[in-house]
Amino acid sequence: MSEIVAIDITHHQLPLDPPFPASWDPQPRTKFPATIVRVRDSDGHEGIGSGDVMYGFSDYARYFLGEDPLDLEQHAARLANIEFHAGRPWPLDVALWDLAGKIKARPIWRMLGGASPRLRLYASSAVHRPVAAMVQTAQQMIEAGFAAMKVRFGRPSVDDDLAVITAVRDAVGDRLTLMVDCNQGWRMPWDVAKPWDLETAWRVAQRLIAEDVYWMEEPLHRGDYDGMLQLRDRVRAVSPMRIAGGEMTREPYEFRELLTRDCLEVFQPDVVCSQGFSGLAALGREVVAAGKLFTPHTWGNGIGVLANLQLTAGVVGHEGSQWVEWPFDPPEWTLERRDYPLAVPLRAEGGWITLSDEPGLGAALNEEALFATASSQATFQ
Ligand SMILES: [Mg+2]
Repeated sequence: MSEIVAIDITHHQLPLDPPFPASWDPQPRTKFPATIVRVRDSDGHEGIGSGDVMYGFSDYARYFLGEDPLDLEQHAARLANIEFHAGRPWPLDVALWDLAGKIKARPIWRMLGGASPRLRLYASSAVHRPVAAMVQTAQQMIEAGFAAMKVRFGRPSVDDDLAVITAVRDAVGDRLTLMVDCNQGWRMPWDVAKPWDLETAWRVAQRLIAEDVYWMEEPLHRGDYDGMLQLRDRVRAVSPMRIAGGEMTREPYEFRELLTRDCLEVFQPDVVCSQGFSGLAALGREVVAAGKLFTPHTWGNGIGVLANLQLTAGVVGHEGSQWVEWPFDPPEWTLERRDYPLAVPLRAEGGWITLSDEPGLGAALNEEALFATASSQATFQ
């Protein structure tokens, strides 16, 4: 048995010129931060992870050093305790699973059950463009082989948002499945706008139903369970449109509430933000057993995207997820920007991706890029 001998955490910032105007952030982003976690064992294997910033984690490294790298349940339980006290430490869980995969010479998706390595992707757009430019974006996604695209709401006027979805539907007909992210579940620290209330969400929902939208994401605050139930009841009475959410929800009891109260049809936890692989594998199985979709959120760099693809491929496969998020919105958000920590950017083909049989995550770091972008901070400015 090997033991864990080192945990290294580094921060990086890729300069973004032109800046990236993410729809969910009122401040255009001039930097794309990445925090990289490396965990090594005494046999020389190294696992990698990425996600939240993990400032101050060195205080807790002692609870992993000297331990068996394959004791993943204990590591996850300690990480859950650390999350309670000190923020989201889940990038280490990703690195530990990558390490365990390398020790066992197995890909993570096989370690998690091996449901299906082939997953269908939806193009997840990010930018609030004018109506004509959004129509052009939708057409470009079709040309790139995607059969589904997510559109972001959050313009100063909801009517401007709705004009976009109407124009896109008019232009593409049934060639694209459309999702809409209302982004009312959480805010960036500097954004103090209030979330929508039920009546606003319902007014928007009716328009989305008329445009045959597949899911309506985060129409209300993440803790507004009663609002979600009322909205869901009203929507279900007239349409199959699904309510999606849970991307930043942390605790198992919170997901249980969403599941047992039947607030959502689509569950979107992110393995680099909540509970790690073992926690979300259990949740994913429960979600699918309840007849709902499990399709993780992923809006970080390629390591996070790959981690969520591994989770989905292992636990529920294409049948249980239907669509997996693929952050992609050129020219502002390209795979070169998104995947800069990786030696080779991830590649989709015709709107699908097939995971390899490489051990662990199946990815290597771009050491040159990480050296060039090294920073003491992992901020967006
Ligand atoms: Mg979202």
